[in-house]
Amino acid sequence: MDTPAPLSPELPEATPQPAVAEPTATLDWSVLSDEARRFGVRKFRPGQRQIIEAVLAGKNVLGIMPTGAGKSLCYQLPSLFLPKATLVISPLLALMEDQRAKLESVDIGAAKLNSLLTIREERTVIEEILANEHPVIFMTPERLEDQETLDLLNHHGVSLFVVDEGHCISQWGHDFRPSYLSLAHARRQLGNPPVLALTATAPKEVSDDIIRELDIPDATIINTGVERENLVFEVQRTTTKQKKLAALLDIVRNTEGTGIIYTATVRSANEVCQFLVDNRIKATNYHARLKARDRVAAQDGFMNDAFRVMVATKAFGMGVDKLDIRYVIHYHFPDSLESYYQEAGRAGRDEKPARAVLLYRRGDRLIQQYFLLRKYPSREDALKIYEHIKTLAAQNGGSIHVKAVAESSGFSRRLVKVVAAELEDFGIVIRRGRKLLFRREFRSTDEVQQFVLVYDIRLANDQRRLQRMMGYAESTACRMRLLRDYFGDEPQLDCGLCDNCRARAEGRLGLNADTQPEAVFDEGQRVRHPRFGQGAVIRSRGRRVMVEFDDPSKRRTVHAAYLQKVA
Ligand code: ADP
Ligand code: MG
Repeated sequence: MDTPAPLSPELPEATPQPAVAEPTATLDWSVLSDEARRFGVRKFRPGQRQIIEAVLAGKNVLGIMPTGAGKSLCYQLPSLFLPKATLVISPLLALMEDQRAKLESVDIGAAKLNSLLTIREERTVIEEILANEHPVIFMTPERLEDQETLDLLNHHGVSLFVVDEGHCISQWGHDFRPSYLSLAHARRQLGNPPVLALTATAPKEVSDDIIRELDIPDATIINTGVERENLVFEVQRTTTKQKKLAALLDIVRNTEGTGIIYTATVRSANEVCQFLVDNRIKATNYHARLKARDRVAAQDGFMNDAFRVMVATKAFGMGVDKLDIRYVIHYHFPDSLESYYQEAGRAGRDEKPARAVLLYRRGDRLIQQYFLLRKYPSREDALKIYEHIKTLAAQNGGSIHVKAVAESSGFSRRLVKVVAAELEDFGIVIRRGRKLLFRREFRSTDEVQQFVLVYDIRLANDQRRLQRMMGYAESTACRMRLLRDYFGDEPQLDCGLCDNCRARAEGRLGLNADTQPEAVFDEGQRVRHPRFGQGAVIRSRGRRVMVEFDDPSKRRTVHAAYLQKVA
């Protein structure tokens, strides 16, 4: 990973800035930097500057940066310099509102069009767009399937076509949204503006899909890589629940600072939390079954350090901005390496050393398997739910509550919603909160086929991803290397820090925890590391040695076995 590029005045001056699709003025970096400060940004993070440069040069760009790395800035900043609107496609209504509010707070007009607006709100937004008040327009992909919306956008034109959460276009990924597949068509209708596709940690299959489906074979790919150098990955094999709890307690007791423990089920979240409390650890828990008020209390208590440990299901984490989390322990492995990396990556946001520990038990597969088999309806059930929606809507003037469909069909509300979401992607229903508006029947048996096939494809992908998650846990290769491979990063040296690297080093060098002398390096000792080159020892604690490396001049804790003394 490269170091963050400083903003001016250190910026290399006069990179001639560049042909936008229709350049209005030449930009220089000092102007950009001033504008960046509006967003509270003083230094670009890795990748941001390259992406922004490429976007302003009018190129098609695929930007791959981990969650929280700052992808939004890559379109926010260019939007200020582009002659026409920046259109941002976003799949999540909640994220959309956050982004919009953020832009408004720094005085940049931003509109959003989605299914949650009332008719009156929508009319106002459309008038504002027609009056050219919004340089940035957020929209769901479904919305872009409307010809009226395209006409509206073409009124002033679009300078940049941003596809946020770009992995949703891939059937391989975990969030596939069929309506993302119509984005290439929409873009053509908008006169082919340059594309900026953004995604976190995309496996190779996914980034290939993005480029193919968006039809941007010439795209400049900027991938900052997934590696978080301060994060030490580790897997502990545990055979029984007792051993697992003992391992957990050991980590919690012997790691300073706060941590998160992820479990796959609500029941385990409660049990593990109780176990820690019984052992006099200040722990709290968080999951979707808690009342909203209790969730807020748990989160607040964790944020302001009233609790040391948060035991949670995957419901916890999005938008949690706590930087000094020292460890993330997975009590159960999650459904995929994407989920694992995202959750583990919440540790050490302050760039100080942090641990990511997976307590692995092969048998835990059953838990994920259980969820998987209930995640999607069978073909028959999907069609039954469709029939119920159709019939009930016809009896109720075209609109029907999810609850009513669940009651009449006997399926869970969750399953009705899953099917409704799919039907929405086909343009068959529109979801408005808990209500469904029925628009039309299936047009052909071919369409029906496509509809039911979606679930088969998803299930097969999910199984494969689960398998790769287990492969990671069972491998003896460098963990960081396994993650980099999975996410399509360039191959590099082993990290030298993870459990597998440590085990290998100890085997090779005949060291083990008992015979290893306490301090093997004096302060100031010059050393060489196979990966980071030469540096000077800051301090040495057992086998963990903190070194200030010459290049890049960064402090880092490494394993003693990888260090050679240099005279
Ligand atoms: P992503 O979409 O990549 O997950 P966001 O764009 O939501 O991440 O950014 C995460 C946070 O980082 C935001 O609060 C944002 O303001 C902040 N941020 C982004 N870039 C920078 C920067 N260069 N310096 C400081 N903060 C930044
Ligand atoms: Mg984002």
